[in-house]
Amino acid sequence: MTDFTMEKDADGVATITWDVPGKSMNVLSMDGAAELSRLIDDALADDAVKGIVITSGKADFAAGMDLNVLAGMKQGGPQAVFDGVMSLHHLLRKIERAGMDARTLKGGKPIAAALPGTALGIGLELPLACHRIFAADNPKARIGLPEIMVGIFPGAGGTTRLSRKLGAMAAAPLLLEGKLNDPAKAKAAGAIDEVVADPVAAARDWVLSAQDADLVKPWDAKGYKMPGGDPWHPAGFMTFLGANAMVMGKTMGVYPAARALLSAVYEGAQVDFDTALRIEARWFTNVLMNPSAGNMIRSLFISKEALEKGANRPDVPDQRVRKLGVLGAGMMGAGIAHVAANAGIEVVLIDSTQEAADRGKAHSAGILDKGISRRKLTEARKAEVLAHITATTDYAALNGCDLIVEAVFEDPSVKAEVTAKAEAVIPADAIFATNTSTLPISELAKASSRPEQFIGIHFFSPVDKMALVEIIRGRETGDRAVAKALDFVRQIRKTPIVVNDARFFYANRCIIPYINEGIRMVGEGVNPVLIENAARLMGMPLGPLQLVDETSIELGARIARATRKAMGDAYPDEAVDAVIFAMEKAGRLGRKAKAGFYAYDDAGKRQGLWEGLAADYPRAEGQPELTEVQHRLMFAQALEAVRALEQGVLTDIREGDVGAILGWGFAPWTGGPFGWLDMLGAERAVEIAEALAADHGDRFAPPALLRDMAAKGDSFYGRFGAQAAAA
Ligand code: NAD
Repeated sequence: MTDFTMEKDADGVATITWDVPGKSMNVLSMDGAAELSRLIDDALADDAVKGIVITSGKADFAAGMDLNVLAGMKQGGPQAVFDGVMSLHHLLRKIERAGMDARTLKGGKPIAAALPGTALGIGLELPLACHRIFAADNPKARIGLPEIMVGIFPGAGGTTRLSRKLGAMAAAPLLLEGKLNDPAKAKAAGAIDEVVADPVAAARDWVLSAQDADLVKPWDAKGYKMPGGDPWHPAGFMTFLGANAMVMGKTMGVYPAARALLSAVYEGAQVDFDTALRIEARWFTNVLMNPSAGNMIRSLFISKEALEKGANRPDVPDQRVRKLGVLGAGMMGAGIAHVAANAGIEVVLIDSTQEAADRGKAHSAGILDKGISRRKLTEARKAEVLAHITATTDYAALNGCDLIVEAVFEDPSVKAEVTAKAEAVIPADAIFATNTSTLPISELAKASSRPEQFIGIHFFSPVDKMALVEIIRGRETGDRAVAKALDFVRQIRKTPIVVNDARFFYANRCIIPYINEGIRMVGEGVNPVLIENAARLMGMPLGPLQLVDETSIELGARIARATRKAMGDAYPDEAVDAVIFAMEKAGRLGRKAKAGFYAYDDAGKRQGLWEGLAADYPRAEGQPELTEVQHRLMFAQALEAVRALEQGVLTDIREGDVGAILGWGFAPWTGGPFGWLDMLGAERAVEIAEALAADHGDRFAPPALLRDMAAKGDSFYGRFGAQAAAA
């Protein structure tokens, strides 16, 4: 079983084919790298070989490094990481120098990469070490270096080669944003050289005709200057200054990878190429050893993929959806119909008037039109998607639906009525799901004649953009319903978590305390600028006040009233309500009303925090420390996640972490609330929570589970993460 094989032909071309057995996509392991190294040695030493083509036996070239291998390397400590990375550098440098004379730079063998499809991460770093890159004219292929998205950066020479090839400015979107391009755009960006119908044939022709000079990389030639200027050049200086400011602005300094990447480019630009590779390897080691990188890889890659592949799927036969009924064609129903139709599922979209149903279908047309205007879609594709949606008021059209998702008004009696109406028509074995965000599933299931086939499938808004779907098991929900929901989520290519039924399920349960803590501080006279910045500086994408403006203060007030009614005397958020109800009364309902905690211009563009807040809530004399504000905002969320675990709402901490990042943007650099608490350590977390509880109330009292962990020196992943691959 080998990942790479080599064939030599009569013309003197050695073709190395990458084809990892048993995988649909190539990923590089250290064993694979060693095999490739041996084949390169063989071809370079063989006088009959004139040139080498490296390609793939699969539809795509490669998805990158096997991240499990990286996780393993990390376990060996920093020296093991550094040595592992350096061994890749040696291999790629050997390919780049291709046996040429070190002084004359002559006599090397041309090596070309032929990419049939997608080439990501090391799948592009390897080609970048070759002398020429040919990609198939395959618009579906994605080419780029996405490492930054999982908290690391291209560490197999991609950072150094691309920045030297393109200059720091042009390389920035590819390196710092992990931007992926189709082959035509990748060529325009300078990441690859040619887009052709048959990359292997083109690469063969090229290696047979290449001259010595074609093999010498600019950085190995005399007098190399970095495009756009190195850091000491006036133009280069400005680039680095700007890039540094941009990175700090975007990441708030909490993502170690972005800073390390910039340092590797900046420092590397001032030394020779091989020293630059060593610098890159050191920074890569630094980042990989940082707990943030491990947590991000674990949550955003390993756990996310495991959940998408059905890690918690009950063992029942395939439940893929063939015909979906969506009840209610409002904002959510229309979005759900769209994503399902887009995945090729037949959809019946029902509302109480034909006009409303049509409006729901038009929502899908609107999204597709946007895709067409961005040249991502064709008119034919739009017609194909829309043809899957039947917009009607006629419940009889639900005949034959194997799944219903109900998204009518958030009113139990309306929901009960449509449940009964739909169940009168749909097959006896169909599953009925509700998209409610606040009503208990087990209560709504009472309207169903088959409660074991009743489940919650909770989408987030906007449905076409949000990746998370929360699946909620009611008291009587059976396994087949859970499998159905998971198979549906997989069809529409989103990420599922499965939780048990309790107030606000998981995501909203944690996000509400975050928003409330921010609002509570406004009421206490904490400077709102401090509140918002404290959140952003912890890596939250939106401060709590901006978030509630976005989701609507009106909705917040409605939820507050309902919760208060349900909880009676135990209701803990009087102080929050005072502010929220006052805002509601003043008509400051959030962004939609162009007035909220922020001010907006007539076009609805956010201006700054609303100055009137200072009049209504005079600034307290002593303002809290930044850290205290951050602790309040973060612990409000993280302690709620712990309680959700303690109470059995969450059954898998991977779901808690992935759900937090994808559902409400919980500081992604932490890998999620459990990852973050593990970084702090349970003991320190208890200490902080106790201090917060003493100053601000019982809502911060450490849950018994956290106390127990602190006493025993446990971590969340140590205790509950048996299924979660260690990263
Ligand atoms: P919406 O008001 O935009 O849409 C509701 C739709 O249901 C309307 O088009 C209405 O005409 C239709 N409807 C009402 N009664 C009906 C009936 N008897 N038969 C057929 N259609 C009927 O509301 P929305 O924001 O789309 O929310 C729908 C559901 O999704 C609610 O349960 C809500 O809690 C939940 N939800 C909303 C969000 C969000 O961000 N808005 C997020 C997650 C879940």
